[in-house]
Amino acid sequence: MIIVLKPGITKKDEAAVIQEIKHLGYKPHIMRGIARTVIGAIGDEQTHQTLEVLTGWPQVESVMPVQKRYKLVSREAHPADSTIEVNGVIIGGPKFQVMAGPCSVESEEQVMETAIAVKEAGATILRGGAFKPRTSPYEFQGLGKKGLQLLAKARKETGLPVITELLSEDHAELVAEYADILQIGARNSQNFQLLIAAAKTGKPVLLKRGLAMRIEEWLLAGEYVLSNENPNLLFCERGIRTFETYTRNTLDLSAIPIIKRESHCPIVIDPSQGAGRADLVHSLCKGAVAMGADALLIEVHPNPSGARSDAAQQLTLHDFSRLMKELQPLIQAAGRE
Ligand code: PEP
Ligand code: MN
Repeated sequence: MIIVLKPGITKKDEAAVIQEIKHLGYKPHIMRGIARTVIGAIGDEQTHQTLEVLTGWPQVESVMPVQKRYKLVSREAHPADSTIEVNGVIIGGPKFQVMAGPCSVESEEQVMETAIAVKEAGATILRGGAFKPRTSPYEFQGLGKKGLQLLAKARKETGLPVITELLSEDHAELVAEYADILQIGARNSQNFQLLIAAAKTGKPVLLKRGLAMRIEEWLLAGEYVLSNENPNLLFCERGIRTFETYTRNTLDLSAIPIIKRESHCPIVIDPSQGAGRADLVHSLCKGAVAMGADALLIEVHPNPSGARSDAAQQLTLHDFSRLMKELQPLIQAAGRE
């Protein structure tokens, strides 16, 4: 920790701070500048009591941590990129992966038609919501277990592994029985009990960024998965809420190089929730590939205008196939397969 003292304080006030630093188990290292004094408190912040209490002292200007609060997700802990394998599909390796499918599973025909078409276009993982977190309780909440069964049927038919959202701790075992990757939604990214329940199933966990979540908070939420003996974590940027109204959310592509620098876990981009508009999905995907994302999560529907959720942002099967072709040269230029 670095403690910056206010200018012009008395020797007695300075000594009191030094005394407290020692009392809390740190070794003070005093640096006197012309205008003010800075104290480096040497000691492991993870095993010592916090010095943040000094923030409230009148002679203290600021207290800054030097150590990161997350450990297992950090690059420091694991310098090489982590890869996650689901039924032979490796995420985070040389091959760029695309997860695609409807926002919600609505019927057998809808999920089968989509699964076959996205596979044909080159997607390697099938997405689809069976339990849907809707803003209004009066909107379609998903088909639940029936939806999971339809996803499993589509996997059997196409061989594509399945990703679906886990909405409640109570459903952890049920969803893990059918899904290959558990998605933790933006509205639940700091629901730590849910993260623990997801981690404990042993299935890979894709952690969406919360609507108002700082990257540090997101990394710390990911830490819950790894610290519960599940090394298979994927971060997924899906847009954060800002003052902008042209898009549903503001897709923060700067999260890609930041997560890459800070963490060894793969980063996935969801341009569908990110923009809320099908017409922006192509551009955002291209940006994500160019900026080093490991995978995309894209909403695709055979008839978007008739979709029971997120109608405005789902691509048609034809548009998805066109997008996959357009992405090819970018994937290669980014050094991926
Ligand atoms: C979704 O993927 O359909 C979804 C609801 O995502 P998010 O949690 O990012 O809103
Ligand atoms: Mn959706």
